Amino acid sequence: MKFGGTSVATGEKIRHVADLVAKYAGQGCGVVVVVSALDGVTDKLIEAAEQAKKGNRGYVSGFKQEILERHLAVVGGAVENKRVRAEVEQFLKATVDELEKVLTGIIYVGELTSKSRDYVLSFGERLSAPIVCGALRDLKFDAQFLTGGEVGIVTDSNFGEANPLMNLTKHQVKEKVDPLLEKGVVLVVTGYIAATQDGVTTTLGRGGSDYTATILGAALSAEVWVWTDVDGLMTSDPKIVTSAKMLSELSFQEASEMAIFGAKAMHPKALEPAMQENIAVRIRGISDPENLGTLIVKESKARLGASVKAVNLAKNVALVNVSGAVMVGAPGTAAKVFDVLGNGKINILMISQSVSEANISFVVQRNLLERAVSMLEIALLGKGLIRSVTAEDDVCVVAIVGAGMRGTPGVASRLFTAVAKKGINVRMIAQGSSELNISFVVKETDGEEAVRAVHEEFKLDKN
Ligand code: ADP
Ligand code: ASP
Ligand code: MG
Repeated sequence: MKFGGTSVATGEKIRHVADLVAKYAGQGCGVVVVVSALDGVTDKLIEAAEQAKKGNRGYVSGFKQEILERHLAVVGGAVENKRVRAEVEQFLKATVDELEKVLTGIIYVGELTSKSRDYVLSFGERLSAPIVCGALRDLKFDAQFLTGGEVGIVTDSNFGEANPLMNLTKHQVKEKVDPLLEKGVVLVVTGYIAATQDGVTTTLGRGGSDYTATILGAALSAEVWVWTDVDGLMTSDPKIVTSAKMLSELSFQEASEMAIFGAKAMHPKALEPAMQENIAVRIRGISDPENLGTLIVKESKARLGASVKAVNLAKNVALVNVSGAVMVGAPGTAAKVFDVLGNGKINILMISQSVSEANISFVVQRNLLERAVSMLEIALLGKGLIRSVTAEDDVCVVAIVGAGMRGTPGVASRLFTAVAKKGINVRMIAQGSSELNISFVVKETDGEEAVRAVHEEFKLDKN
């Protein structure tokens, strides 16, 4: 079971989480709990690391105090038993002292490497997991907490977006977890963080706690329940479309497409381990635990139903355009462009190329834009392989998903007519040959309106 940042934001919410876990652990089910950092803490750690790099001592000491007080207040609300509470408090204080030392080290060195940044970011989950564990001990469970590295998740050293080495991980996780579950221990594992083979802390990328949960599910052949603040995956983000409906079943492919394009802020790779091991994943709402939520399985029964199932919005993206008449009829130009990006570990969300071959457009995460543009300029512009690289960062991607779109003519025409009727200009379009997804780029300010127009056109609230 995985609980996200919003589900563990306060002491009261953590007690609710503990009650939910208790319901299943009490029936004799082996339960491994994965927790995120308290809501907003990872963002604050990023800011603190940046301020430390700039040598801002005042910020760091204020931050230390703030983070400690917030977590102590949450423990106060989450754990009643005095002895357990005192133990958790002591652990939190020692952990925050360690965080302060790390930040002070960054101040002295004046440098923030991706390795030290991951170390700083690991503190969010290292501070939340002991509180959840304390709340379970409060309910008389034999609960223990472990970091992702301690539980056996091993990754490469691609700091900030590390990749699990699944074979080794599966072996180590089973070896560590099985005996504990047999003894009746309820394990609480920090989401998002793992370690290299040398034991250096890594992170799995933003939203990575979902990924931790499926990695553990795959290693233990256990169903994964991702508890969150909505009842399941929905036809759209309910914060944008108030009439959005929950989807009771989706295939892995459909749900992955949704994750890549913004749904539930889920880690894009989170479904991979479950897909490989054919482990079912459920997305469920903590406020309505009787509701079984969205079941994600290999083949969705609901496939024959509606052609379009959901429309999502991916923000924080940017559009890059590579152009030049020299590209026309020059075989291998696209390969060179993607080679450069691949070497820079820049993931591409969407690609389109005009038939004239005079330009290639693609979409990347906005935080990687500068790196993408400068790498392309250095590698290709200088050699005259392309004429220009331009970028736009005030854009977003609207993506529609549904396995039933395959072989259903007219979906694209309805889609773009609905968007055009709202006077919204479409900057770029891509459809995978799987026909599972059509995505298009619009100005950021038009994104939500485009999503609502599509939701209405395909009557997603009625399906
Ligand atoms: P957690 O803290 O549990 O990881 P997230 O904030 O990462 O939760 O994701 C939950 C949020 O995702 C919801 O509150 C909702 O606003 C948003 N969301 C976006 N698109 C969708 C969608 N298609 N279905 C469900 N939720 C969505
Ligand atoms: N705490 C991490 C983040 O904010 C991981 C997660 O919440 O899933 O990205
Ligand atoms: Mg999340």
